[in-house]
Amino acid sequence: MTKRGKLAVLGSINADHILNLAQFPRPGETVIGKQYQVAYGGKGANQAVAAGRAGADVTFVACIGSDDIGRQMREQFSRDGIDVTAIEEVEGEATGVALIYVNGDGENAIGIYAGANGALTPERVQKQRQTIADADALLMQLESPIESVQLAAEIAVKHGGKVILNPAPAAKLSDELLALIDIITPNETEAQILTGIEVSDDNGAARAAEALHSKGIATVIITLGSRGVWLSEQGEGKRIAGFKVDAVDTIAAGDTFNGALITALLESQPLDQAIIFAHAAAAIAVTRSGAQPSVPRREEIDRFLQ
Ligand code: ADP
Repeated sequence: MTKRGKLAVLGSINADHILNLAQFPRPGETVIGKQYQVAYGGKGANQAVAAGRAGADVTFVACIGSDDIGRQMREQFSRDGIDVTAIEEVEGEATGVALIYVNGDGENAIGIYAGANGALTPERVQKQRQTIADADALLMQLESPIESVQLAAEIAVKHGGKVILNPAPAAKLSDELLALIDIITPNETEAQILTGIEVSDDNGAARAAEALHSKGIATVIITLGSRGVWLSEQGEGKRIAGFKVDAVDTIAAGDTFNGALITALLESQPLDQAIIFAHAAAAIAVTRSGAQPSVPRREEIDRFLQ
């Protein structure tokens, strides 16, 4: 058995209600859907599941509402090998929800209700202080209150843990927060919003990475969809290509990449090799539809890489 460091993931849990219809309803209009499903999602949950299925020793710090769907998701996290003791059930709140319309062209329109995710306050993060302090790495996204992300990063740094931030959904961030991050993993849009630099080719990615290094971040990994990633460390940048697959949908591609990347790093795999491992996991995920249902298990990733 490979020696594994401990991982804490802090983030969101959403029930995704996905309705496929020919075209989006206009104001006042009702459109009959063709297909409906409830899938487990939320960026925090997707990344925790990706890490759990890839074999990480992971504890998930999150909130669910006092409802059945939240409890069902928590049970599923357990089955995926995640320690769920730091998932708090919030009385009087609903579990986070994403209402997703998908039209005939495969475009989506999404409304989100944060629900219990908004209740992951700094006070609740304080209650999980020990979990964060004990972890060798802390992985976060931006679907939780930003003061909580900041506090969790401070706790991790204070106790010698690495902080990995997937800055999604896209937002500008304070220098104070950026200075606490060891590895940042924006996609092209997120890198552009963080830095104000257009990221449409390797040159743009290199310049955006430099801007992020200047904020104190040692490792910048900009994900480029089917083109792979731009990896930049101490001013040295290069592109690492992904795998060619027939993409069905790219939902949770970035989340799977992040969960698998940190899993490999916590097994002491070198960074380039960890990125290839994460590319493999994400490539498998894009060949299937949905968020968590598409996330692969370790055996599949290892088989893909053989
Ligand atoms: P996000 O989902 O956050 O927008 P990206 O689209 O940049 O992130 O994709 C993240 C990773 O997922 C990529 O670096 C790559 O490993 C994988 N990936 C995404 N799209 C494809 C694709 N069409 N084919 C193969 N791999 C893909």
